[in-house]
Amino acid sequence: MPGSAGHFIMFYIIIFIFGTVFGSFFNVCISRIPRNISVVFPDSSCPSCKANIKPYHNIPIISYILLKGKCAYCGAKINIHYFLVELLTPILLLLLFISLDAQFSIVFFKYAIFISFGLIIFFIDLYHYIIPDKLTLPLILIGLLFSLLPNTDVSWMSASIGALSGFLLFLLTAVIFQKTLRKDSLGGGDIKLIAAIGAFLGIWGILFTVLFSSLIALTVLLILKHDRKEPFPFGPFLIIGALVYILAGNSLIELYLRLFNIY
Ligand SMILES: [Zn+2]
Repeated sequence: MPGSAGHFIMFYIIIFIFGTVFGSFFNVCISRIPRNISVVFPDSSCPSCKANIKPYHNIPIISYILLKGKCAYCGAKINIHYFLVELLTPILLLLLFISLDAQFSIVFFKYAIFISFGLIIFFIDLYHYIIPDKLTLPLILIGLLFSLLPNTDVSWMSASIGALSGFLLFLLTAVIFQKTLRKDSLGGGDIKLIAAIGAFLGIWGILFTVLFSSLIALTVLLILKHDRKEPFPFGPFLIIGALVYILAGNSLIELYLRLFNIY
């Protein structure tokens, strides 16, 4: 059909622009939520010299490159997450759109919300070793609500069992580690995050996410020769596992089954 290719390119451009603008807002969330500052009034100023950031210094992706990652006034380093999130948000949304056969469906909006919360949680946990309730609790609720809608990909049964089994599995793991080794393993934030992932991805998704995230977390621990006494954030790995499942889960499971000739 003539013209349809043009439409698709227009969709991609729209998603990219929206993605960078949303990413810009997620950066405000990443720096303010752990400090309990309102995210509603994004009057941004440099944390070092307090100079107000001009709108033309606040263009997603481009400003960071032009300013070489430094404040225009005092030269203080701007944290790399500002650049990464403004770039990753549109890329992940585009990959999601493509993986769903380029349709603006309920499933697209469902996972666009998950990706948004996921990016914010990823960086807050990475920097501060916390996963705020004000992010995970609404996320659990949103995941369960989506399972009640028609034309969605995970049934309410799968979503509720996914949320509950994730919650119980992590709670049990935390209790066992605490009782036997007197060690903190999974925090309360991780337990609520896995429940949210279960609510979004259902039973198979949670199984994949737990296995996949544990595998890459272990690999990273070994590569970094991580000191066991130091805190180690597990949230970012759970987010990566969930994102891999959302964007490529079906193809990966198919590949695995084919490799081992299971069907
Ligand atoms: Zn400054």
